[in-house]
Amino acid sequence: MNPLIQINDLSAGYNKIPVIRHVNLKIFSNDFIGVIGPNGGGKTTLLKVISGLLQPLSGSIEFDDELSGKKSIGYLPQIKNIDKKFPITVFDVVRSGLMLNRGKENSANEKQKVTKILEESGIAGISKKAIGELSGGQMQRVFLCRALISNPKILLLDEPDTFVDNTFEGELYERLQSLNEKMAIILVSHDVSSISGHVKTIACMNGGLHYHPENQITQEQLDNYNCPIRLVTHAVRRKTTKNFGA
Ligand code: ADP
Repeated sequence: MNPLIQINDLSAGYNKIPVIRHVNLKIFSNDFIGVIGPNGGGKTTLLKVISGLLQPLSGSIEFDDELSGKKSIGYLPQIKNIDKKFPITVFDVVRSGLMLNRGKENSANEKQKVTKILEESGIAGISKKAIGELSGGQMQRVFLCRALISNPKILLLDEPDTFVDNTFEGELYERLQSLNEKMAIILVSHDVSSISGHVKTIACMNGGLHYHPENQITQEQLDNYNCPIRLVTHAVRRKTTKNFGA
């Protein structure tokens, strides 16, 4: 089986200064990789390179023919970076996920697709709301719809479990298990304990990338991978906020 994406000795960063260096990674169609690492370790930068938002400074990234352009990659960015003052409705945010298909679909088809995915995700009732009116959990649901609407072959998720209630978190991981039957998933999280039961393998990102071909990892292995994060138990996880449902 060929990888969907092959990253070779890749360095990438900003203003010509690399923040991730000499990264090697193969992504296969049934992968579910949890990317962990300290703040500033380059997790988001890696997702930006994979999604094509950022070009490598050196090295290469190869896409399999099966990935017919960027529309085969769905990306859920960190919602804390989204400008909530931007005057756009939920419907149009989700519709913008079809932008790369433009010209291939007529407007009626697009509207039908948006309505369908909003209904499937249980948020049809908020379709006319402006994004500034949404709770954190609702924002995550909306941007997940946007990432999924083009039926991607790879789904990139940047901390999808922040600002969400326990119910959404449970639903999210259940949905990801089922989506993983038809797409590869790369999930960035700062909380290794909460994702290790759901992902298949782990990539530790701290400037360089260390691939760990299992979903359980010990503190000693994290230290060996130069990945200075502490394993925490679920009992001391951050507070979640309740009642974020649509
Ligand atoms: P992580 O997702 O692991 O927290 P990031 O990929 O967001 O890490 O950031 C890695 C490094 O790149 C950090 O030092 C950050 O300050 C820097 N960085 C991120 N985005 C930009 C940008 N747009 N311009 C300049 N530096 C950036």
